[in-house]
Amino acid sequence: MKYDVIIIGAGPSGIMTAYELVQNREDLKILVIEQGKSIKKRFCPREELGRCIYCKPYCSITSGFSGAGAFSDGKLNSYHLSKTGKEGEIYLGGNDGSYLREYYSNEEIKDIIDYTDKIYLKFGADPELQGIKYQKEVEKLQKKAADNEISLVTYPVRHIGTEKTHELFDKIENFLLDRIDIMFDTTVKNLIIEKGTCVGVKVASSYHQDEEQEIYGSHVVLGVGRKGANWLAQICHEHHIEADSGIIDIGIRYELPDEIMKDVNKYLYEAKFIARIKPFKDKVRTFCQNPSGFVATEVYDNNIILANGHSYKGKKSTNTNLAILVSHHFSTPFKRPLDYGRNIAENLNQLGAGKLVIQRFGDLLNGRRTWQKDIDNNSVVPTLTDVTPGDISFALGYRTLTDIIETIKAIDKVIPGFANGDNLMYGPEIKFYSNVVKLNKDLETSIHNLYSIGDGGGLTTGLIMASSSGVLMARVLLKRLNDKQTI
Ligand SMILES: Cc1cc2nc3c(=O)[nH]c(=O)nc-3n(C[C@H](O)[C@H](O)[C@H](O)COP(=O)(O)OP(=O)(O)OC[C@H]3O[C@@H](n4cnc5c(N)ncnc54)[C@H](O)[C@@H]3O)c2cc1C
Repeated sequence: MKYDVIIIGAGPSGIMTAYELVQNREDLKILVIEQGKSIKKRFCPREELGRCIYCKPYCSITSGFSGAGAFSDGKLNSYHLSKTGKEGEIYLGGNDGSYLREYYSNEEIKDIIDYTDKIYLKFGADPELQGIKYQKEVEKLQKKAADNEISLVTYPVRHIGTEKTHELFDKIENFLLDRIDIMFDTTVKNLIIEKGTCVGVKVASSYHQDEEQEIYGSHVVLGVGRKGANWLAQICHEHHIEADSGIIDIGIRYELPDEIMKDVNKYLYEAKFIARIKPFKDKVRTFCQNPSGFVATEVYDNNIILANGHSYKGKKSTNTNLAILVSHHFSTPFKRPLDYGRNIAENLNQLGAGKLVIQRFGDLLNGRRTWQKDIDNNSVVPTLTDVTPGDISFALGYRTLTDIIETIKAIDKVIPGFANGDNLMYGPEIKFYSNVVKLNKDLETSIHNLYSIGDGGGLTTGLIMASSSGVLMARVLLKRLNDKQTI
């Protein structure tokens, strides 16, 4: 078997690569290899059983067509035009895709985001943009935040909603199935590299991983997401693919009543607060806010269970949840941030007997664990109940925890009630995108014809930028393939 392009991973980055390729060249032979299932077969048993049963071979929340995007909130965070920076400078969520700035101008990045957004609109995303109507109110909030040494960064947000996101990706899957080959339930075990050039992949059924098969391709794209970040780090090590150790984001999911968050929810939908508070002055940010949403879990390999959150367009809770994440960067001698994150997750998962640990903020401040009876009598009713009441301070570490506590107290000065004792913390929430694969302008790794896109290689951290990196990838490949004879 030989293909023009092999894409590893059917997450938003991989499927946008495939989409943009077929839109421009129907004759290309394209293969997407995905270790999870078709979106039609993706289902989380927690919805029926109320608890995680650690699905084998892979968790449906993190793998399958549309990757981590399938059960996501579907918030497409657009860019924000800077008022204070250089003219025309843009801010992207967190460090999302900022690496692209080394090679692409602000105008080029804006164009690619706008173009990708239009693809989502074409497949049914909500035309309404949140966070743009209430400029005066937002400026007041920003001033209040600045007075308390916090930045409030705002972006227009297109909220698709979990159930609609699922429908949208289903339409994209149908579109692609008519035009390219997709192998589901198939895991890429290794790359085939000959004299510094990637020429194919070794795959196995996700159910019987010892029977390997080789598939050849002229160009191989890694779009493996956070789910595949650990595998990718191992592959980089084995094949001497150049990579750096980037930032690891560690923290918690915070849940509090909509009532407290009502202004922010109304004016912005999602507020991104960024703080650097004493004594450590680490970067702490709020992220992935879900008004009237639900706390969720995601399971990674080795049964690591992490917190996340989402919200539906239709079904609503009375709570808002958001991540509070601390960015840590290790330099010397320790350079394995993925391992650091995994160790914390394993410790806290063990303390929670294989479940997330939940703790009231007030209990944490008072140096006591939370008990089930505390949760039963709490004014904030958790939207995720398959959790273990306990004490997250046993695992999170003094530095991370101090950063989180001080940030919550600082935000409380902007949003009164943010530090209420009954507010809930779920831990851990960790983002595995810290193996940063070195790329050139063509998103090519140090191995010829091997490329990396999306969250897995540390290029992006969210839906719109992961998808945009896929579109950009396709454009590079189209140029390269147009210059050469295809198969
Ligand atoms: C509950 C939840 C809510 C979220 N909400 C939002 C949101 O509102 N807004 C936002 O911007 N982001 C959100 N995100 C994050 C967003 O989903 C990701 O940033 C995005 O999906 C990254 O896309 P990707 O293509 O890089 O990787 P992924 O979506 O992770 O896809 C990678 C795919 O590769 C497959 N894979 C990995 N290794 C292999 C291998 N060896 N062989 C074959 N296949 C492999 C995986 O199974 C997976 O399907 C959310 C995530 C979750 C889990």
